[in-house]
Amino acid sequence: MKIVILGAPASGKGTVAKKISRDFNIPHISIGAMFRENINKKTQLGCQVEQYITTGELVPDNITCDLLKIRLKQKDCENGFILDGFPRNVNQAKFLNEFSAPEVVLLLSITEQESIKRILGRLTCPKCKEIYNLSFYKNSTCKICGTTLEHRVDDNEQTIKKRFDVYQKETKPLIDFYNDKVVEFRGQDDPDSLYDEIKNFLNLNLMM
Ligand code: AMP
Repeated sequence: MKIVILGAPASGKGTVAKKISRDFNIPHISIGAMFRENINKKTQLGCQVEQYITTGELVPDNITCDLLKIRLKQKDCENGFILDGFPRNVNQAKFLNEFSAPEVVLLLSITEQESIKRILGRLTCPKCKEIYNLSFYKNSTCKICGTTLEHRVDDNEQTIKKRFDVYQKETKPLIDFYNDKVVEFRGQDDPDSLYDEIKNFLNLNLMM
């Protein structure tokens, strides 16, 4: 099962992708998380991409596509994958189509207002990558592994606007590009019912 999940910043892509990965036993691949890990470890790649991420720009396609290609060649991707945050533009989508085209594209719709609210309240666990929101979770440590939660470097008011503009200009055209592969869900809905809907859809349409 090869799945792409699309949506504006904080539409719930990461949370849904994590659950799909668990329930359908396919790897959750987030290029953004791979970049952040490299930034934290201060690798050469991390230094190369840090400025793009802190300003909300897209990392150049050659760097991003190379990283994705290496990841998709790993053995755990043989039976499929869920891609969260890739592709982000038509050039990347063409690259993916040549390499390993997705069967379905899940689109999570959300208003700009809700996206901003979620981004400003978002906390993530740097260790197990669990995602929380200050509106619902009042602790400062992860309930799964106890690690102190962090705000992402790009989850701030200065960067949000840029990330939203990039989504509108670069990523939204992918809805037309993928056309009848796209299935839209309301990212605004409560996370449990949203996921139930998506899981039912995948069970009905993609399982043997
Ligand atoms: P995400 O974790 O998917 O929200 O991505 C965080 C940041 O990583 C983005 O704002 C970009 O700077 C960078 N990034 C992630 N995925 C891509 C991609 N497919 N192409 C270019 N830049 C990306």
